[in-house]
Amino acid sequence: MSTESSLKAFEEAQELIPGGVNSPVRAFASVGGSPLFIKEAKGAYLTDLDGNKYVDFVQSWGPLIFGHRDETIESAVLKAVKHGLSFGAPTQVETDLASLVISMFDSIDKVRFVSSGTEAVMSAIRLARGFTGRDDIVKFVGCYHGHSDSLLVEAGSGAATFGNPSSPGVPADFTKHTLLATYNDIESIKKCFADSKDIACIIIEPIAGNMGLVPADKEFLLELRKLCDANGTLLIFDEVMSGFRASINGAESIVGVKPDILTLGKVIGGGMPVGAFGARKEIMAKLSPEGPVYQAGTLSGNPIAMAAGFAALSKLKQNAKVMSVLNARAVRLVEGMKAEATKVGIPMQVETRGSMFGFFFNENEVKNFADAGKTDAELFAKFHQEMLQEGFYFACSLYETGFISTATTDEMIEETIKASAKVFAKITNA
Ligand SMILES: *Cc1c(COP(=O)(O)O)cnc(C)c1O
Repeated sequence: MSTESSLKAFEEAQELIPGGVNSPVRAFASVGGSPLFIKEAKGAYLTDLDGNKYVDFVQSWGPLIFGHRDETIESAVLKAVKHGLSFGAPTQVETDLASLVISMFDSIDKVRFVSSGTEAVMSAIRLARGFTGRDDIVKFVGCYHGHSDSLLVEAGSGAATFGNPSSPGVPADFTKHTLLATYNDIESIKKCFADSKDIACIIIEPIAGNMGLVPADKEFLLELRKLCDANGTLLIFDEVMSGFRASINGAESIVGVKPDILTLGKVIGGGMPVGAFGARKEIMAKLSPEGPVYQAGTLSGNPIAMAAGFAALSKLKQNAKVMSVLNARAVRLVEGMKAEATKVGIPMQVETRGSMFGFFFNENEVKNFADAGKTDAELFAKFHQEMLQEGFYFACSLYETGFISTATTDEMIEETIKASAKVFAKITNA
């Protein structure tokens, strides 16, 4: 397999773009090697510049639940383009998408659209502070909530892989209001409440996808909800990743715990840049121009992005049963790979939620970021490289979640398991 064209493109990019990429995790730094430049994609397949084809388990890091170039989404986008790319004035499709999103989550009465998950979370935090009149926030070690200053503390995935939990350029003053807690550990939350009477909100990925896939225990979320209520603290579910991936009605429909504010992204834009945050009426009423908490965006609610999102979510809502099909494939994939790993003595922990899957080369169950860190990183890097050679494109960091799309067939899953058997055998014999 030649990747000469990608190598050349990467060299050129590195001259002009820091690290050659516009988002760090794309650089393949933690698995060694060099990123593949993509020429085109269709369904479950990516094609790189050299014409190599891969089954794609990244799906643009989550957004493409219907795979690449889904016909419904593509035609909605092409149709919208003909009417103008942006107006900076309201359009009907924003209300249509708002109505659809609100219909899918019990917890929200109103929603505001932005252009990324980072923006959604940053704005949700400001809203929580504005609503409660408090300054402190709590986040969990290993949860990622985008790259805004006060949240770039002990964040998972990209930041963790780069050993840069709190980034230079973020003044300590900006993060002194950010308290840290341990995922799935209610005692750590009790400690936060003991330390501060000024906690505006607790933000959590109820199904963490940025330290690998680590869902929160139901009991833990129930306790968390109770403690928030007892302390007048808002609970924010960051479902930018899990929102339409784990279930079409969010984590709240799985665990029976409702957040006060919900943040969404990824699938919500059908592949275009969209994020959103929503809450019940009285909280959203604090937001500008209804209320005093400022938030804005030149391209927010962009008509092309809204059209893509509306097409994606309509299709998802109409095909609600698809989630169990995707989950069956995700389960088969990770259980199949685990069986192959076990045969050659490689320990593996696996997890799925809806169309999301995760695996760790660990002896023990993973409940938090420290557990995730016990993964055999060298083994993961080898696995990643070898699977690429076999034509399977997995996320290039052990702290990322994998994704099944509706274009990922049962046959592809079986081929992937077969390839993993070959790769595990090769790795253990090396
Ligand atoms: C991806 C992600 C974000 C950030 O979204 P961007 O669109 O990359 O800014 C925030 N929170 C979670 C849980 C995410 O997975």
